[in-house]
Amino acid sequence: MSRKNNPLSDPSRRSAQTQMVHGGGMRSPHGETSEAIFMSSGFVYNDSKSAQDRFTGDDPGFIYSRFSNPTVEMFQDRMALLEGAEAARATASGMAAVTTAVMSQVRAGDHAVAAKALFGGCRFVVEDYLPRWGVESTLVDGSDPANFAAAMRPNTKVVFIETPTNPTLELVDIAAVAEIAHAHGATLIVDNVFATAIQQKPLELGADLVVYSATKHIDGQGRALAGIILGSEELISGDIHTIIRQTGPSISPFNAWIMLKGLETLELRVNRMTENAGRIAAFLAEHPKVRRVMYPHHPSNQHYELAMRQMKGGSTLVAFEVDGDQAATFRAADGLGVILISNNLGDAKSIISHPATTTHQRLSEEARAELGIGPNLLRLSVGLEDPDDLIADLAYGLDQV
Ligand SMILES: *Cc1c(COP(=O)(O)O)cnc(C)c1O
Repeated sequence: MSRKNNPLSDPSRRSAQTQMVHGGGMRSPHGETSEAIFMSSGFVYNDSKSAQDRFTGDDPGFIYSRFSNPTVEMFQDRMALLEGAEAARATASGMAAVTTAVMSQVRAGDHAVAAKALFGGCRFVVEDYLPRWGVESTLVDGSDPANFAAAMRPNTKVVFIETPTNPTLELVDIAAVAEIAHAHGATLIVDNVFATAIQQKPLELGADLVVYSATKHIDGQGRALAGIILGSEELISGDIHTIIRQTGPSISPFNAWIMLKGLETLELRVNRMTENAGRIAAFLAEHPKVRRVMYPHHPSNQHYELAMRQMKGGSTLVAFEVDGDQAATFRAADGLGVILISNNLGDAKSIISHPATTTHQRLSEEARAELGIGPNLLRLSVGLEDPDDLIADLAYGLDQV
């Protein structure tokens, strides 16, 4: 019985990367190596009393895949281990996770505060959607925590931030904003997509809930949409579980399986992409056709010290301004031979986007200017290609400026 006495047989004694390969696994009686995909909408019970016990909660087994499923649970458990969270619930998309998390914290008459620089859908939920349901919202410049303090009201129940922000990779001080939110009895939700769980741990910095679009780095190969919400058992098994159970923004077990398997290589991929992004940021910073480079761990960053403190790596994304107008910026992107023009991010394939005319075209020109999104801004999601190829590709593109 030597294995039983091996300390590493206890999953909690294993390091994070080992947990990402084995953690949260639930092997079926068939003893499969790779986790099984339980494509089943429902589950059967041995007899009526067992069914009753499942519904009362006396028997914790599965009932219906709108709110629980073994493959989905494996993804949630593994992700909770990575985040250091007590509990997690997966959803059909990142936006389902954000909407569920925000909605779980407010009701009519409450107030929400968020940073202005948010992913498009997130900004819509806070700015346009909440007010329709009687929840007023205030958007602030997230670069200074004092702006959050000034926006708080007695009925503020939730603060929502994203850091680094999309697309200009500015930072919000998570610990400082958490303190302000908690002093007013509000919940802090952090959208951690741009940093990933490998580089930034919002719960350790005081956040109450963390949300992800798993569509991005967690899949990392552009195959499926998914989202996940993580936090304390109390918050997750409360209204968040109830909203998912009763309104159904549920994830397919197949997509949960893609994300579960993605976690096995997440650290490897994110670290390599970050290394590549750091090299590219350094290259762009020296390039004569680049006016400004935005990268959290580049010394030119206005929040460099915060970035070094708050993030273990400098992000897999780089934003930069071309020294030219929109036409010149289009020529730079259109000259690329390896890097794809698309709006996804966190992918193995490097992707470039022109936020002003795509992801942020819905905003007014003033709103874009406020966010630093000019006609010469490009956002690059750095992938897993050879960084020398990516640098040569960018050099060729910039020659077209
Ligand atoms: C992509 C993204 C979302 C939305 O996720 P989907 O999976 O596309 O629904 C939310 N927040 C951020 C920061 C994102 O990048």
